[in-house]
Amino acid sequence: MTAAAPLAPHSVIGILGGGQLAKMLVQAAAELGFRSAVYSDDWGPALDIAASHLIGPYDNLARLDEFARAVDVVTYEFENVPVIAAEHLARRVPVRPGPQALRVAQDRSTEKAFISDLGIPVAPFAAIRDAGDLAAASKTMADWKVPGILKTSRLGYDGKGQAGVAGPDDLAAAFASLGSVPAVLERRIDFAFEISVLAVRALDGSLACYDAPRNTHEGGILRRSLVPSGVPAVIEAQACNVAGHIATALDYVGVLGVEMFYLGEQSATPLLVNEIAPRVHNSGHWTMDACAVSQFENHIRAITGWPLGSTARHSDAEMRNLIGHDADDWPALAADRDLCLHLYGKREARPGRKMGHVTRLAPRSA
Ligand code: ATP
Ligand code: MG
Repeated sequence: MTAAAPLAPHSVIGILGGGQLAKMLVQAAAELGFRSAVYSDDWGPALDIAASHLIGPYDNLARLDEFARAVDVVTYEFENVPVIAAEHLARRVPVRPGPQALRVAQDRSTEKAFISDLGIPVAPFAAIRDAGDLAAASKTMADWKVPGILKTSRLGYDGKGQAGVAGPDDLAAAFASLGSVPAVLERRIDFAFEISVLAVRALDGSLACYDAPRNTHEGGILRRSLVPSGVPAVIEAQACNVAGHIATALDYVGVLGVEMFYLGEQSATPLLVNEIAPRVHNSGHWTMDACAVSQFENHIRAITGWPLGSTARHSDAEMRNLIGHDADDWPALAADRDLCLHLYGKREARPGRKMGHVTRLAPRSA
C-alpha cells in the first residue's frame, strides 16, 4: 500500500448519504478541523450542519463529478450506495472504504460466501437465486431440522425483507412473499445473545477494536447496546480477530461493523458472523460518550490517513435508541442527569424511524 500523506485540517470530507450517521461523521470531522460536503438524494439531518451539500440521485454521474471536484476524500454512511457511483468517484478521488467493501456487503449471498471462504463460521445457509433453487434449498433445510429465516439478498435493513420459514414445506410461500427475488435461507440460530464488533482499520493497515457491545433488537430494529457485554475476554479477543481478518481481506479503510451471534462458551463455534456493515454502526453510538475517541472520529481519522485514536472505554455504557415517538419524551430525557442525549433533528417522527439515542454511563466495572 502506498503511504499517502494524511489530509490536512481544512480538507473536505465528502459523505454519501445525509442521515444521522452522516451527521455524526460531520460533527466528528469538524472536531478535527475538517469541513464536510454531503451528497444525498433527499433531505437528511446531516444537511443542516455540513459546510455544503448536493442533492441528486446516487447514479447521476455528472452530479457525482461535481461532488468529486469539491472534496478530498469520499466515504459513505450506508451500504446501498450504487457500486457504479463509488467506482466512478474512485477514479477521481480516494473512496474509503473502497467499492469492493460495498460490493460484498450489498449482497447477502456474496457476503456470506466471502466470510465463510475466509474460514470464519457463519450460520448454515443456502442461496436461492430463483424458483429453480427452491427444491435444493428445501432439502438442505430438511437436514437442519430447525426453522429458518429467508432474507432477500439485497436492500434489507432493520429486519425488512425477511420471512420466518417454519419448515421445508413453507419455503416456496416465503420466497413468493418476499417477491421471488434472490434470497438467502439461513438456519435459525439459537444464540445466547448478539454482539457486534466495531473495528477500525487505518490507511497503513493498523487495526483496533472497541469493546464489543451486547445488542438487543425489537421488531427487527436495534433497541439497546450494552458494554461490557459479559462475553469472556478470550472470546472478545476472538471476535476482534475475526473482524480484523475481514477488514484486512477487504483492504478496508475506516470503521467496519461486524454483527455476530454468541452461542456460549461451551459451543464448538462460540461466534457466528451474521453480517457486516461497511460503515459506522448504530451499535457503536455509545463510543461517543464512553470512549476517548468515538467510532465517528476514528472513521474520519482512518479515511484521512491519520493515526487511529484510542478505542479505550472509560465507562460502562448502555445505549438506547429513540425510535419513532420515543423522542417526544425529550423534556424528561433532557432532565435526566445520568443520560447523554442525542437527538438527530429529523423533522417528523414515524414508526420505526430512528430519531435519536441516549447513553447512560456508569463507572467502569470490568
Ligand atoms: P439490521 O439492519 O438491523 O442489521 P438486517 O435487516 O440487516 O438488520 P439481520 O441483521 O440479518 O438483518 O437480522 C436482523 C436480526 O434478526 C438479527 O440481529 C437477529 O436478531 C435476527 N436474526 C437474523 N438472522 C438470524 C438467524 N439466522 N438466526 C436467529 N436470529 C437471526
Ligand atoms: Mg443486522
